[in-house]
Amino acid sequence: MEMRYNEIKTVIEDSCAKVGRKVSDVTLIAVTKYVTIEETKKVFRLGIKDLGENREQGFLEKKQALNHAEINWHFIGPLQSRKVKQVINEVDMFHALDRLKIAKEINKRRETPVDCFVQVNVSGEASKGGVTVDDCLTFIEQLRPFQNIRVVGLMTMAPHTEDETAIRQVFRRLRQLRDEIKNQAHPHAPCLYLSMGMSNDYAIAIEEGATHIRLGTILVQPER
Ligand SMILES: *Cc1c(COP(=O)(O)O)cnc(C)c1O
Repeated sequence: MEMRYNEIKTVIEDSCAKVGRKVSDVTLIAVTKYVTIEETKKVFRLGIKDLGENREQGFLEKKQALNHAEINWHFIGPLQSRKVKQVINEVDMFHALDRLKIAKEINKRRETPVDCFVQVNVSGEASKGGVTVDDCLTFIEQLRPFQNIRVVGLMTMAPHTEDETAIRQVFRRLRQLRDEIKNQAHPHAPCLYLSMGMSNDYAIAIEEGATHIRLGTILVQPER
């Protein structure tokens, strides 16, 4: 795993260099959903301090087992309404906010404001979660009354395709949308960050401005 991590760091450095960005402006989130607690501990021992899970049970298990204050815990999948209560106060960043019902529940259950990314379905694939590009601003405006939700950025998943141009366009569109919302300077939605880029497309995502990349397969499970 260490060799893979070193290779990934090189790709991150190269992608940043290509577009004149700082490596320190890109946070690598290790997505540990495919692996055991033991493997997750190895990830932490490599020096990775940001861990991501997409299911409530896996998230709570890993957090309990790796009880280190310096870890930032990312919940990257959709939250189920009835599980919000159990999970939300354990989360440092929630990456998949796309429904008002969940926002209400988070606001009610969370004890202090939580950093959230609004998930946007830029590619329009029916299988993907997220608000549409057209609805994003309205959705963010609807979040204003929720004092325990702070919209720190936008998240997307690129389409499953070999077409690099199509992937790049999705990331570019999310960045434009982020810039637009950021410029409006909503107090509840500073919208500074871009959570985009996974194992197959993180180099492109970094070139297009990703601040948080979410890497599972390539880091923890390369044989898949
Ligand atoms: C699983 C998952 C990832 C990681 O995907 P890989 O392709 O394995 O890197 C990233 N983001 C979300 C939301 C996921 O569910």
